[in-house]
Amino acid sequence: MAKRILIIEDNPANLELLTILLEAFHYVVLAAGGGTEGIEMVRREKLDLIICDVQMPGVDGYEVARQLKRDPMLHRIPLLAVTALAMVGDREKVLSAGFDGYIDKPIVPEKFVKQIEAFMERPDDRSR
Ligand code: MN
Repeated sequence: MAKRILIIEDNPANLELLTILLEAFHYVVLAAGGGTEGIEMVRREKLDLIICDVQMPGVDGYEVARQLKRDPMLHRIPLLAVTALAMVGDREKVLSAGFDGYIDKPIVPEKFVKQIEAFMERPDDRSR
């Protein structure tokens, strides 16, 4: 069964790039253009991974993470941030909001799929 990945990203060009990359590796890609739509999709779709932009208008990535991670039905789905934030403190902020990991923007197309696959294969230590 192909794994199902939701991308939550407000920038259409980034969304398209990530979608093309993942579909090339035979993932089923679902897309949401913002945090509110993204959370709704998480509630109704079966997902193996969520990739979420941090900086979005309205419900941003931090809020997406907080809402998903406090929901007993949803908190085990791996949640990966894609973020342009480069400061160490911002990475801590990403993780403390509930993200299980992050990939730095700009993403490197040649590396991106390997990065998310390594993340999904991680031993399951997500107990929060
Ligand atoms: Mn953004």
